[in-house]
Amino acid sequence: MTDFLPDLNVRALYDAFDASVCDLDCGLKCAPHNPDGSGKPVCCDICQAVPVAYKQEWNYLKTATDLWHLWRGDECTQDPCDPAELLAETPEHLLLLACQGPAHCQRPFRASSCRQFPFFPYVTNDYRLIGLAYEWDFEPTCWVISHLDHVTLAYRREFIRFYDDMFSLWPEEFESYAALSEDMRTAFAKQRRRIPLLHRNGGTYLLSPASERLTRIEASQLKKFGPYREDAD
Ligand code: SF4
Ligand code: SF4
Repeated sequence: MTDFLPDLNVRALYDAFDASVCDLDCGLKCAPHNPDGSGKPVCCDICQAVPVAYKQEWNYLKTATDLWHLWRGDECTQDPCDPAELLAETPEHLLLLACQGPAHCQRPFRASSCRQFPFFPYVTNDYRLIGLAYEWDFEPTCWVISHLDHVTLAYRREFIRFYDDMFSLWPEEFESYAALSEDMRTAFAKQRRRIPLLHRNGGTYLLSPASERLTRIEASQLKKFGPYREDAD
């Protein structure tokens, strides 16, 4: 990625990407199963996931709210990681952040990484954004990933619009997600699994990582993971 950073109207982008992932508070579902026993929703626990923001977002957030600070690496006391290692892995155009924690969340000032979690825009081998795929590392812990049938159409629409707009302003960001999508195809091909996909057409599909052939499926029929395996539909 080059140094090009497009101007982003961060407030307008946030306002247009504000729908809840599902109609219930999914944090209440995953918090009891947080592997570090903190009882926090997994994606709001700095020991489980470090939020990122575009540099343009940070320029907005640092003056608009006291919710965030730049990640230092000492916020997780249970299992401190090597800050140098994580910083080295972080792409140039992103910054690692830490918030004041879920008890102090300020919903209007959630970063785009909070809003998109657990999803990312899935880009096909021939460069089309066709829908939402999920961060597969969180299969065992994120309740939403095991309950894709609960993801609202409003959220799906806002997600796609957010990234259509973002990519029209910032083609290089499209490349980042094309690379992540390729990583997911490789990971799922190794496991001989198909990729669950919330398509931009409103349907739910399983995507073959080799051919990218799509097979329609009821979202409620998708596999569940970890402690959610036994959940009733
Ligand atoms: S998105 Fe997933 S990890 Fe985050 S609060 Fe909801 S269920 Fe938990
Ligand atoms: S800002 Fe809110 S949604 Fe984002 S990580 Fe912090 S507590 Fe979670």
